[in-house]
Amino acid sequence: MTIQKEIGVGDFVLLDKIDLDSFMKNLELRFKHGKIYTYIGEVCVSVNPYRTMNIYDSNYVNQYKGRELFENPPHIFAIADAAHKVMKKQGRDTCIVISGESGSGKTEASKIIMKYIAAVTNIGVSPDKYSGGQKEIERVKNVLIQSNSILEAFGNAKTNRNDNSSRFGKYMDIHFDFKGDPIGGHINKYLLEKSRVIYQQGGERNFHCFYQLLLGAPDSLLQNLNLTRNTDHYFYIKQGQAAKVDSINDKNDFREVTSSLHTLEFTKSDEETLWNVVGAILHLGNLEFITEEDQLRVKDHKMVQNVAVLLKVPEDELQNALCERVIAAHGDIMRKEHTQSEATYGRDALAKAIYDRLFTWIVTRINSAIAVDEASRKQFQSSLIGVLDIYGFEIFDNNSFEQFCINYCNEKLQQLFIELVLKQEQEEYQKEGIEWTHIDYFNNQIICELVDAPHKGILAIMDEACLNVGKVTDEMLLEAMDKKLKDHKHYSSRQTKPAEKTLKHKVHFKITHYAGDVTYSINGFLDKNKDPLFQDFKRLLYHSKDPNLKSMWPEGAQHISETTKRPQTAGTLFKNSMAALVQNLMNKEPHYVRCIKPNELKSPTHFNEERVRHQVCYLGLVENVRVRRAGFVYRQRYDIFLKRYKMISQFTWPNFRSGTDKDGVKVIMDEHKFSNDVKYGHTKIFIRSPKTLFALEAARNEL
Ligand code: ATP
Ligand code: MG
Repeated sequence: MTIQKEIGVGDFVLLDKIDLDSFMKNLELRFKHGKIYTYIGEVCVSVNPYRTMNIYDSNYVNQYKGRELFENPPHIFAIADAAHKVMKKQGRDTCIVISGESGSGKTEASKIIMKYIAAVTNIGVSPDKYSGGQKEIERVKNVLIQSNSILEAFGNAKTNRNDNSSRFGKYMDIHFDFKGDPIGGHINKYLLEKSRVIYQQGGERNFHCFYQLLLGAPDSLLQNLNLTRNTDHYFYIKQGQAAKVDSINDKNDFREVTSSLHTLEFTKSDEETLWNVVGAILHLGNLEFITEEDQLRVKDHKMVQNVAVLLKVPEDELQNALCERVIAAHGDIMRKEHTQSEATYGRDALAKAIYDRLFTWIVTRINSAIAVDEASRKQFQSSLIGVLDIYGFEIFDNNSFEQFCINYCNEKLQQLFIELVLKQEQEEYQKEGIEWTHIDYFNNQIICELVDAPHKGILAIMDEACLNVGKVTDEMLLEAMDKKLKDHKHYSSRQTKPAEKTLKHKVHFKITHYAGDVTYSINGFLDKNKDPLFQDFKRLLYHSKDPNLKSMWPEGAQHISETTKRPQTAGTLFKNSMAALVQNLMNKEPHYVRCIKPNELKSPTHFNEERVRHQVCYLGLVENVRVRRAGFVYRQRYDIFLKRYKMISQFTWPNFRSGTDKDGVKVIMDEHKFSNDVKYGHTKIFIRSPKTLFALEAARNEL
């Protein structure tokens, strides 16, 4: 690394003084000079530049390909390369965990990593000379990259934090053969924020695909779906009053999605299913109920017709399913008409459910296009790189069950970071026979447990309340939580608003998260946790004439009289999926990208000191530097170290022949009188002071 030529220091461990102020100064200095990446050892800190950076083209790819971290200025490419190298050379599964709050640049980082991996694999062969295997590698790479535009269309939305906010968590495994070329992959998705389908806060949008369809689809498609281009016409997508977003071109995005669908081999009828469901949801949102002569019915019959045509279900059955439910009681089958509010609730639940199932289906389709079977994995001795890009920690004016899940997910990842970074360091010192000094961290395990502890965590209390359906209200749930958690340091219950205090009406609770205090409104928690959908809809969709749709509703095959097992709650499902994710990541060699949002204005120049300081604190970055330093600013394998510095000693130049690499390194350090500043581990040298490193570099540069 050309340390002297860096702006500030390229690795925070090289700071003279390790404290928050010096950290901030270095970060700001580098950001102002367009240096958005800085290391903490092997962790890459990335500050969102909010502008296009010309640092990702093929020249940069070549500069970083196959190089060691310290040989080049800090760059996310180096992290991707490190993960790829370990995977390729040692056959070990690795993962890259990207974390940071909403809008900090995680999704962009994950795409940059994937493009880098695509660029450094399967090259050196011109496209017209591709053999079967090489063609397949290109195809897999195309699918991996192009799946992004589809997933973002259906899983991302404009929020008040980020114009392209991920509303689902994504973990992607990329499988490589023994040569290091990608042969397939698999995407795991985590809890999609489906409530957005029916409701958006002011300033926010529904998922991008709705606007893409209305603004980008050809007239013929819109005619088939019986839709107009007027986004204000559709209740489900206009509530946030933010259909037009400067940074988004829905028309172009529609074209890109269509082209990606082709690359991913979605058939004509697959595409039809996709847009039919999106269209059906738009119509559903405009469907209203009225009560006439004591009977509930849909106000405008045309709406039912529109939805029925698109979902390929009989119109009268849809009408019935919307207005009543069929129940089996004591062997009899009865019809029970909905109240108006039940019907509206059912309509919304239907819209959310079909969207959620559609999204799951899309992911399954992508996965089948890049699936690697067990036999090939064995044949190619494959290993993998996992890339994790989740929804970042977020605080809105109104926070609900979704933010609760998203923020819990971020707690779990922070926990993982703490465990792994500490564990790794400890293990390294132990393994190398070097004494270890413990550095204190804020351990957020206590917050994870507040949420997920069996019996006494919030999720468990919520599940218990869900067992008593109908009898327990959200307020009662809050009361139960207050009772059980009142002594917890990170929990408190809150009055609604000062003005309403007199009503003694509590509907809020507060969690002191690792990343800040968030006040959640309890309204809707029970319902979202239980996530019910009338059986009638499931049966209806199972009988759709669209085989794709039918396949999304297997449980609709069940007869009315069969008793259904109580499904797991949304909270428990999410908790389990997080546990599985953490377990999965623990088994891989982790690489970290820690993303930071420089300001709330999406400005490329503004560095909001206070906001950044807050993030640096809660991400534990300064502690990270301290642990990393723990007395040593630098460690390196003897062979690599020798290769870099052998020219500064006559005994090792051009080659050291009188002993091991370790002996050679000792000769250099003795000759330059650095030995007091150094510890020799079993396989690596550990250097205490940055001055030594500077001096070594200087000696090298003087030659
Ligand atoms: P969320 O948690 O809401 O999904 P995120 O961390 O994934 O947020 P991104 O969507 O990656 O955030 O980034 C937000 C925006 O910041 C991008 O749409 C882009 O405009 C800008 N941005 C982020 N990283 C970069 C980058 N490396 N170069 C240029 N612009 C970037
Ligand atoms: Mg994102």
